[in-house]
Amino acid sequence: MTAIPNRTATGGLDTAALQALDAAHHLHPFTHHGELAAKGVRIVTKGEGVWLTDSEGNEILDGMAGLWCVNVGYGRTELAEAAYAQMQELPYYNTFFQTTHVPAIALAATVARLAPGDLDHVFFAGSGSEANDTNIRLVRHYWAEMGKPGKRVIISRRNAYHGSTLGGASLGGMQAMHGQGGLPIPDVVHIDQPAWFAEGGEMSPEEFGIARARQLEAKIAEVGAENVAAFIAEPVQGAGGVIVPPDSYWPEVKRILAEHEILFIADEVITGFGRTGHWFGSEGYGLAPDIMTIAKGLSSGYQPIGGSIVSTRIAEVLNEAGEFFHGYTYSGHPVACAVASENLRIMEEERVVDHVHDVAGPYLAEKWGALADHPLVGEAVSKGLMASLALTPDKAARAPFAGPVGEAGFITREISFGNNLIMRHVGDRMIIAPPLVITPDEIDLLIERAVRTLDMAHDKLRAEGMLKAA
Ligand SMILES: *Cc1c(COP(=O)(O)O)cnc(C)c1O
Repeated sequence: MTAIPNRTATGGLDTAALQALDAAHHLHPFTHHGELAAKGVRIVTKGEGVWLTDSEGNEILDGMAGLWCVNVGYGRTELAEAAYAQMQELPYYNTFFQTTHVPAIALAATVARLAPGDLDHVFFAGSGSEANDTNIRLVRHYWAEMGKPGKRVIISRRNAYHGSTLGGASLGGMQAMHGQGGLPIPDVVHIDQPAWFAEGGEMSPEEFGIARARQLEAKIAEVGAENVAAFIAEPVQGAGGVIVPPDSYWPEVKRILAEHEILFIADEVITGFGRTGHWFGSEGYGLAPDIMTIAKGLSSGYQPIGGSIVSTRIAEVLNEAGEFFHGYTYSGHPVACAVASENLRIMEEERVVDHVHDVAGPYLAEKWGALADHPLVGEAVSKGLMASLALTPDKAARAPFAGPVGEAGFITREISFGNNLIMRHVGDRMIIAPPLVITPDEIDLLIERAVRTLDMAHDKLRAEGMLKAA
């Protein structure tokens, strides 16, 4: 029988043995298993600050904060202690059947205080995907109670990411996800994204932003406002490739939303809790959503938790509406809530959002923006501590590569990992979203490794004849 590792570090097994066990038994998210088994999975054993250690002893700068979530950095003993204390006191109880517990009460009150406007009511979920499933049910329930049950359609955007459940993946606009299993579900429709570099053609960014916003107006007219429940969007698209919209985009969307009776759901799973230099991305754009989806940075990823923050206007309708037949066993899980509350306490006490807004965000903007001068880079953009590069074989024409989409990006990502920097690729965009506590010195290191990566990728693409425009 194969040895099974104990739960510490490498469990006494070497990397090859762990890789073999993983390949034999573990199915990974968003992974081509044949390829992974041939190559061998990377095994992460420890985290501290912005640094990860793997089973081979490499020290890796985590440019992605895990999956956009470890906002206060790794190794925070306060969060471990909050979990330990809560597990001893009350490891689990539900919030169904007219009961609750102090961790859920405390976290809901803190989130309500931090969220803008009258976003004062929280429905907890276990993840961002679950929270967006809640939102689909919630907005349809809301309109039915308002006497408008025909308002069921939700408008979203192509290349948006809203999770991976049936509902979340349907709201999302990822073609590859829709292609597997007959998505989207009925009554979810999509308009185009405000991605100027790839799709702006001859238009200026400002003209393009207006044009893409007006697709919302056209779609509302096409579907009929009497059938539209909500529009959902990320203030800055994350998994779509850190697409920072042109400045003209959100004001025009705001105008259109104001003219129609349609709810606006801001998916703040990435942009919430400081990522953009504001507590919520909506604040930076002057948006006033009716519902916000939250997860990831809510607990800095130390516990799985998400939720929907709902306006008082919606909560009042729900109060009148009788029972909402919806909820999760782990809605408001006490350990997750206790850890999230401690995470938010740290964020406030250490003024992490100010650090992003005043120090790390501007510093990254300057250094990352300068990468646009690299011969392989067509644009380099950032918002707070989320940033992206468009790789291109022809800067002036903003041309895509002749080869399959994502090939250059994948090669660059692999080189980056080899340089001990975790930088992800989305197609041929390279993206980062480091822990929010990253210091200017650590940003210097990140940039140094990114430049080395781009140089090496440029050499390799040229050597292999891949620097050709489509
Ligand atoms: C990650 C993400 C989700 C899904 O959250 P999970 O916790 O993975 O289910 C939803 N929306 C956005 C914007 C995300 O980035």
